[in-house]
Amino acid sequence: MTNLASRPAMIDPFGRHVTYLRVSVTDRCDFRCVYCMAEHMTFLPKADLLSLEELDRLCSAFIAKGVKKLRLTGGEPLVRKNILWLVEALSRHLRSGALEELTLTTNGSQLAKYAGELARLGVKRINVSVDTLDPAKFRKITRWGELAKVEEGIEAARVAGLKVKLNAVALKGVNEHEFDDMIAYAHAKGMDLTLIETMPLGEIEGDRTDQYLPLSIVRARLMNRWTLTDIPFRTSGPARYVRVEETGGKIGFITPLTHNFCESCNRVRITCTGQLYMCLGQEDMADLRAPLRASKDDGLVNAAIDEAIGRKPKGHDFVIDRRAQKPAVSRHMSVTGG
Ligand code: SAM
Repeated sequence: MTNLASRPAMIDPFGRHVTYLRVSVTDRCDFRCVYCMAEHMTFLPKADLLSLEELDRLCSAFIAKGVKKLRLTGGEPLVRKNILWLVEALSRHLRSGALEELTLTTNGSQLAKYAGELARLGVKRINVSVDTLDPAKFRKITRWGELAKVEEGIEAARVAGLKVKLNAVALKGVNEHEFDDMIAYAHAKGMDLTLIETMPLGEIEGDRTDQYLPLSIVRARLMNRWTLTDIPFRTSGPARYVRVEETGGKIGFITPLTHNFCESCNRVRITCTGQLYMCLGQEDMADLRAPLRASKDDGLVNAAIDEAIGRKPKGHDFVIDRRAQKPAVSRHMSVTGG
């Protein structure tokens, strides 16, 4: 067998450098978005979760192997108990320069409480998921969420100096006629807006075909109202951006279905139980919890990471149509971390 441990960085079989780690710190969430979770979810027993110390150790191993950007997600990362301990621990890598960015994706429900501390600990940008600006519709989509609280959180984040980007999943017949208003709202506050196609991840109530709205259609409609200019701007994520000439703000499009972006994939994901997923849209994974716990030294875990990166697949093949009776992968987004 090849000695993968001698690789200086994480380079997959297709020559892609893995520099971006997304970490789901909990599978729990205080919302139950209809496209993301079933209403009655079975969550993992707490004993299966990595402790915050173990998450720190695992993230640090990835940073030592070349991860430059780390995103905490979930579930809802801000409902994990003592989450600020982990943010504080990881912030040492920002100070050392090993890590370029520590960020998170949140539903915003707890942001009013945490925004100031996150900024103090070196977080500069965050993504907040908001699919509608209509409070009643917001409640319907999230089942449990309160829009006013999220808006309060967004304001707290802005006051704390965090750069906020809004993420909205495009849902047919639900928010498809709201994007003009959302663009105006976001850009008036200096926030970019990213639109996301719904992906076939995990069993939910209802049929995903009913929710799926191709962003090619959304983009064509937006052009009736706004002047969109393609720009080369990229974060390390998969979004492609346009500038809206009327506002000066940006819109990102994440199009896993209409335009597969796997060729430039630089990401891997770890779950809160220490499973490493090399692709959001495939079932293959590597368990890192056992090697992490088997030794205080990182040798075993590093070898497990190298072995897993050596089989990172070329990409996903999501399809949403009525003939596909099952989701592409059985895990919900909240498990792998969106
Ligand atoms: N709780 C946090 C939040 O709301 O942003 C982080 C986790 S959530 C799973 C991350 C993102 O994934 C959210 O923007 C959510 O809308 C999106 N998401 C969840 N399920 C999805 C699906 N099936 N297709 C596309 N996006 C999805």
